[in-house]
Amino acid sequence: MPWRALPGETPDPYRVWLSEVMLQQTTVRAVIPYFEKFVARWPTVQDLAKADRDDVLAAWAGLGYYSRARNLHACAQAIAARADTAFPEDEAALCALPGIGPYTAAAVAAIAFDQPATPVDGNIERVVSRLFAVTTPLPSAKSEIKRLAATLTPDERPGDFAQAMMDLGAMVCTPKNPSCLMCPLQSDCHAKHKGIESELPVKAVRPERPTRFGVAFLALREDGQVLLRKRPETGLLASMMEIPSTDWVDELLAADIALKAAPVRADWWAMPGQVTHTFTHFRLELLVFRAIVPVDAELTFWADASRCSWVARRDLADAALPSVMRKIIAHALKEN
Ligand code: SF4
Repeated sequence: MPWRALPGETPDPYRVWLSEVMLQQTTVRAVIPYFEKFVARWPTVQDLAKADRDDVLAAWAGLGYYSRARNLHACAQAIAARADTAFPEDEAALCALPGIGPYTAAAVAAIAFDQPATPVDGNIERVVSRLFAVTTPLPSAKSEIKRLAATLTPDERPGDFAQAMMDLGAMVCTPKNPSCLMCPLQSDCHAKHKGIESELPVKAVRPERPTRFGVAFLALREDGQVLLRKRPETGLLASMMEIPSTDWVDELLAADIALKAAPVRADWWAMPGQVTHTFTHFRLELLVFRAIVPVDAELTFWADASRCSWVARRDLADAALPSVMRKIIAHALKEN
């Protein structure tokens, strides 16, 4: 966890909320530098509310699941607009804020405000499914596990209990080879008694991700600037910056067809190999074309000039470029 209150320290709801949002679908190791960057740049929720949304998206770039960053900013603004400009303390009011779902509401209520709420993250889900030997496959078992977890939440120090359960799942009741001999719940653990702890939780077999294909165009101007485009306000990677590309479609595109979507008329050169990236619901394979273009290069109709900008190579690190776009840039420029 990037955030933990020291004994006697009053938890800061902003840091609890920020770490819980960042940790969704993301490892602790990946989150730590982002968490530190955010609290250094925006030390309070009011500071975050005042930030430019594009700056928040740029600071989030690389952490994935970008709707979290947009919701984070919207939520900060909603809190700053409240009469007391503070986080509400109860689960229901927290849940009404942008981007705060049942898990985050319960985590903030329990950890920041010591409310008797029961957050169930992946770690707690695993502990509870083993403790009660729940054999129903996930995700169908989620409501049963949540109900069982709630029966464990104590009236006293529910926040400490929630964090202890999260840590138990992360460090003792691990997905593989749980350390049952050092587990304080061993005598009550039904899965351990039955010898099925390593088989739980049962997960439904996921359908295989489909593959989509596209062609990306990296235009490098003679003065060293790269053409970027802002993605639409809604949909995948909304409002992030991108390397212009064709649509991502179900079948491989012929090069001559793809080149019609190039953002600049130029001598495009196909880079050897391809860029692959895995999103939650599909896998992406991209061919990458590169061209060196003059400073006065005109954008084509397909580029949608209103969303395009030329960015110096040295400034790309600070741009709101998601991981897949950084892969494309690295691939296209690797011989330079
Ligand atoms: Fe997990 Fe083993 Fe503890 Fe049961 S006894 S909760 S399986 S670590």
